[in-house]
Amino acid sequence: MSKSAPKERFYARGLHFECTGCGACCKLGGGFVYPTLEDVGFAARHLELSVNKFTEAYMELHEGQYVFKNDGDNCIFYGENGCTIYEARPTQCRTFPFWKANLKSQYRWKLIEEECEGIGQGRLFDFVEIEAIKNQTSQTPAGPKPEDVKTTPDPLLPS
Ligand code: SF4
Ligand code: SF4
Repeated sequence: MSKSAPKERFYARGLHFECTGCGACCKLGGGFVYPTLEDVGFAARHLELSVNKFTEAYMELHEGQYVFKNDGDNCIFYGENGCTIYEARPTQCRTFPFWKANLKSQYRWKLIEEECEGIGQGRLFDFVEIEAIKNQTSQTPAGPKPEDVKTTPDPLLPS
């Protein structure tokens, strides 16, 4: 028997979403992109760099954790045509807008709807899909710490 969606969740019947590539979520507005160590590995490999070189070039420390650099307005990877590492963008970006914090209540979803023009468009993500995406994210995203980066071997280098 299939598991039915709890009635109390406002997205029990699913939500429509399709990214238009507008880039609004790449304009940080005081936010940070926290890639996981695995995300760093994917992005480094995508750019054919070691994790350490990638970290030096594209990341900086914020409160003891690495975040992607930004130019004050945009994420360092935001280019004229959108994300320049789109295929290797981190979990935080891939899972937006289905973040735990955004799905906490209909009110929170409405607020994020004002930021993201893709909400309400495109195909219907059903409850199970939304839960699966949501569960890839943590409530409080955290980037790797310097010791994590230093001790990461580079299986992540292109073979
Ligand atoms: S704000 Fe929404 S529509 Fe715009 S790029 Fe981000 S996810 Fe896509
Ligand atoms: S990594 Fe790409 S998708 Fe994520 S914030 Fe930066 S430019 Fe946007």
